[in-house]
Amino acid sequence: MIERPSDLLKKFDFYPKKSLGQNFLYDPVWINRIVNAAEISKSDIVLEIGPGSGSLTIALSSIARKVIAVEIDNRLIPILNYVLDGIKNVTVITGDILDCEPHKLMEQYDASKFVVVANIPYYITGQIVRHLFESSMLPRSITMSVQREVAERMIVTPGQMNLLAVSAQFYSNVKIMGYIPAGAFYPIPSVDSALIRLDVFDPSDHVHADSSLFFRIVRAGFAQKRKQLQNSLSNGLSLNKEQTLNALTSIGLDPRCRAQALTMQNWADLTDLLRDAVSVEKK
Ligand code: SAM
Repeated sequence: MIERPSDLLKKFDFYPKKSLGQNFLYDPVWINRIVNAAEISKSDIVLEIGPGSGSLTIALSSIARKVIAVEIDNRLIPILNYVLDGIKNVTVITGDILDCEPHKLMEQYDASKFVVVANIPYYITGQIVRHLFESSMLPRSITMSVQREVAERMIVTPGQMNLLAVSAQFYSNVKIMGYIPAGAFYPIPSVDSALIRLDVFDPSDHVHADSSLFFRIVRAGFAQKRKQLQNSLSNGLSLNKEQTLNALTSIGLDPRCRAQALTMQNWADLTDLLRDAVSVEKK
């Protein structure tokens, strides 16, 4: 039986820090839903980010081959040692996930792919996801709780696109797996949460092979959201208007449209069409 975080934290005289997003999950129904959503098999290695007081860690350890849990707050280590006592397939590492290279963490486990499960602080969701997407060893999937609005912004379709959605959909297939009630956490957070799963693409399946050029163009497009795309691209990439007009019309886009209207393939085509102009400007 898992102890309630409120009891457990009191026992260890632990006070949650808001600055580290410390809202601990207790509700067993939601712990199970998160574990099920991650579709972990007995041969999987799980990287858990921010194990906190260990409720999710225990559930993950019962079905995975190995759980590597990275926790930034060393005040939680005595609690984790207590709740994980006797569980052999969990290794807790104290540190900031942003300083950890997944391939180093996985070094000794003969794993070509791993699975990330995380109930992370919402203020660094974007940084953590970028860190994982850009690492040399990619996870198969990332299942995590995020602020509801963030989840909803990630799954939009052309007409409502934003920079976060383009980034998430460039690297993965994004699904909302459910909405987690605030009462499932202790202390109760002030925002609503959603559970999402990102099924990470193999780099050979990215819509464009040159991610750095692709995102240079996408960022320029979204930098002045209210402007027509022809203007935001010309301004952001220091191109003359004719160059962007030609590129946009050649793929059938109205130069007056806005960045939110474009499909992923439109951005990939624009990257190809503007590549030379952008590289010349760079020199
Ligand atoms: N997973 C636990 C649960 O579900 O009850 C804890 C969730 S709590 C929302 C977030 C956890 O992430 C906290 O334990 C916090 O200390 C930890 N954390 C915050 N920033 C971190 C970082 N940069 N790297 C690793 N852990 C971090």
